Amino acid sequence: MVHFVGAGPGAPDLITLRGARLLQTADVIIYAGSLVNEALLENAKQGCEIYNSAHMTLEEVLHVIRMAHKAGKDVVRLHTGDPCLFGAIREQMDALQKMGIAYDDTPGVSSFCAAAAALGAEYTLPGVSQSVIITRMEGRTPVPEREKLEILAQHGTSMVLFLSAGMTQRVQDALLAGDYTADTPAAIVYKASWTDEKTVRCTVGTLAQAAEENAISKTALLLIGDFLGQDYDRSLLYHPSFETEFRKASK
Ligand code: SAH
Repeated sequence: MVHFVGAGPGAPDLITLRGARLLQTADVIIYAGSLVNEALLENAKQGCEIYNSAHMTLEEVLHVIRMAHKAGKDVVRLHTGDPCLFGAIREQMDALQKMGIAYDDTPGVSSFCAAAAALGAEYTLPGVSQSVIITRMEGRTPVPEREKLEILAQHGTSMVLFLSAGMTQRVQDALLAGDYTADTPAAIVYKASWTDEKTVRCTVGTLAQAAEENAISKTALLLIGDFLGQDYDRSLLYHPSFETEFRKASK
């Protein structure tokens, strides 16, 4: 059996209870060493085989899994944050399916949630934005034409950019070609939830400069939108005049 597990954003106590239990009982752990906190591996059982997939191809990962499966061993495939975002899990799952190897998937806290937590921010503020665009700037990995940043930026909604901290000037230019202005609030969150976490608040117009001044070019998220500003409406859900299934209106 192969267990895909979300390691969470970095702090070792931000893995789920289920994920931690699977790590403790695994015979083999293959972890995404570029971003997973190695402190999580301290709870692996004695004799557990541990592989860092940062040095491996998909084929090598699958080979380790195949061998483990033959020997009746339990494998944890540990991905950073939640595996469903930029985790390259689908190709692994499809290969396992073909090989007849069973798997399951335990979600984790994505870094975009940890980044909001670091800033005390809410992506979906009433009267400001009710949608979050999660995307990346095109780099060596292409992005479909219809999802080019300039096009997505036309929505002007809350946006989180993964894998783009090394391209902030291009990001800034693309955002300004959309509906954001130079004054739109932005933030760079480096290593959210790690002990060396760093948050930098700036604007779309100063994004590239802020990244350069703080020497941040990787392991960071770029957060964009008026949800990082001061103005918003209070929620209807908790308004005295708003009635819900659970609460009568009081005024
Ligand atoms: N599945 C992961 C994302 C993997 S892609 C998740 O759900 O978070 C790798 C990118 O995620 C990095 O380049 C960076 O942009 C972002 N990232 C991962 N962990 C981070 C963290 N703790 N703080 C800030 N950004 C992080």
